[in-house]
Amino acid sequence: MDKDLKTKTPEELTEIVVEYGGKQYVAKYVFTYLHQHNINDINLMTTLSKDMRKKFIDDGYYITQLKIEDKLSDPDGTVKYLFETPDGNKIESVLLDENGRKTICVSTQVGCRLGCKFCATGALGFVRNLTAGEIIDEVSAICVDSGCKVNNVVYMGMGEPLENYDNTLRAVRIFASDIGKQIGFRRQTISTVGIPEGIKKLADEDIFPRLAVSLHAADENVRKEIVPAANKYSLKELSTAMKYYNEKTGRRITIEYCMIDGINDSFELARKLIQFARPLKAGINLIEYNPHPGSDFQPANRDQIKTFKDMLMQAGFETIIRFRRGQSIKAACGQLGADRLTKKEQ
Ligand code: SF4
Repeated sequence: MDKDLKTKTPEELTEIVVEYGGKQYVAKYVFTYLHQHNINDINLMTTLSKDMRKKFIDDGYYITQLKIEDKLSDPDGTVKYLFETPDGNKIESVLLDENGRKTICVSTQVGCRLGCKFCATGALGFVRNLTAGEIIDEVSAICVDSGCKVNNVVYMGMGEPLENYDNTLRAVRIFASDIGKQIGFRRQTISTVGIPEGIKKLADEDIFPRLAVSLHAADENVRKEIVPAANKYSLKELSTAMKYYNEKTGRRITIEYCMIDGINDSFELARKLIQFARPLKAGINLIEYNPHPGSDFQPANRDQIKTFKDMLMQAGFETIIRFRRGQSIKAACGQLGADRLTKKEQ
């Protein structure tokens, strides 16, 4: 059994505390210490008797803690964190400030096996899944460091969250607890490159975080060129899974579309995107590509992005443009970690 107290639900903590001779209500305090006060040391949980704390430690219980290795701030308010995991891997998280609302973009894996051509993380390859405790501590550590209360969590950093399904869902549930950080399901977004079986599995859950699908092209060949996962999952399979999600949950999906110059920004591809999205309940985010060293791609022209947006709006789709943020701090997904890992390897 995993002995990281940070990954336990209130119900699981209750079982553990009772097993050690404590009262049920004490477990609530422990959960609050962990997720509201962000305490990372069992010895500081003074609501537990000294004997019980000692027994916990002797029996191997612990609390995962990430180390902040670096932190870069951009004038636009974006702060990028580079964390070191307990086994020495590097992961990134980003704190975004949108008119006072704080969103934390978390990683779910060290590296990623999916190898999207425009992504710095994809170039790293896959190392391992993050534990639920590590995902949770990305948010806790940023809350402690920045002193902010987080409004939203997006699972959009390094890695594919649906390939680390159980740990990601555990983090979602723990963040949402009303005796923890109280980040409700509607304020958490799981962003996937489009794993059909993962989308269907998520639709069958009893909780409904928001879902974003990184489509990037609604043409099979163009998509295969930039998203290698498209060689395994066709647009038809993806569309079927997205429809299932719409029908099962009643929820809208966000289609993420990273605008890359000369690759997926033509008006013909805007028309294909409209065809793809027509049967779905979906809104569309057009994201200006954030280039990184070593990438052959450049962001699409801003006028082109605006016209692309107008076409989608005229077709009836709510469409938002997200221009690049954190340009001075390498805020593209995986860029900072890739930089450090490369330097370490040299
Ligand atoms: S974009 Fe996401 S899924 Fe694709 S390689 Fe990067 S981290 Fe992995």
